Amino acid sequence: MIHNNFSSFSLSDDIQKALCVLDYKIPTEVQERVIPQALEKKDLIVKAKTGSGKTAAYAIPICEMIDWLENKPQALILTPTRELAVQVKEDFTNIGRFKRIKAAAIYGGHPISIEKTELKQKTHVAVGTPGRVMDHIRKGTLPLSQISCLVIDEADRMLDMGFIDQVEEIINELPKDRVTMLFSATMPQKIKELSLSEHKAPVQIDIHEDS
Ligand code: ADP
Ligand code: MG
Repeated sequence: MIHNNFSSFSLSDDIQKALCVLDYKIPTEVQERVIPQALEKKDLIVKAKTGSGKTAAYAIPICEMIDWLENKPQALILTPTRELAVQVKEDFTNIGRFKRIKAAAIYGGHPISIEKTELKQKTHVAVGTPGRVMDHIRKGTLPLSQISCLVIDEADRMLDMGFIDQVEEIINELPKDRVTMLFSATMPQKIKELSLSEHKAPVQIDIHEDS
């Protein structure tokens, strides 16, 4: 099915309004392919080049699915760098603004006491680098019981930066009943071999370079 604009996805008015404010009029190809599958809670492995709009491809369906009343984090986004964690947090804040979605960025070098306070208050989405996320998991300051969605963003950079073992460690701590989405600009074998969930085979989405 071809979607010509965001109104053809079944998105709530709050999300559509936020996309208007952002001036996102037409979904990019990766958004067109990912959003319907993500809304159906499919596990996804997505290869698409830098600048193709991958953040909104996962942030839109996640914001749509967030239950505002739940106080514990419902989505965990892993990013290789602090800069990306901050950017992705802002994207969630923008896309989720009319749903009043609260995102927290947690990353090495950021005061852990500030993060603990933030995580104790209502946080719908936690965005962070693997090392710091693991620190919070060990300390019990990042509750995982309500996490129903995991995103691994820039998986190829995670691999280059030596974070893949930590990512696997985090995957093993998460509730089994969840959706997992992995995004990468390239798809090295080691990334394909990551076991994202116990039984389900992920849907592979490959956006070609020339599109
Ligand atoms: P990627 O993660 O694939 O490198 P990003 O998610 O960072 O790409 O998006 C790249 C840029 O495109 C960002 O500035 C973002 O705000 C913008 N963008 C994303 N989706 C749309 C859209 N549908 N319409 C207009 N701009 C968009
Ligand atoms: Mg990106």
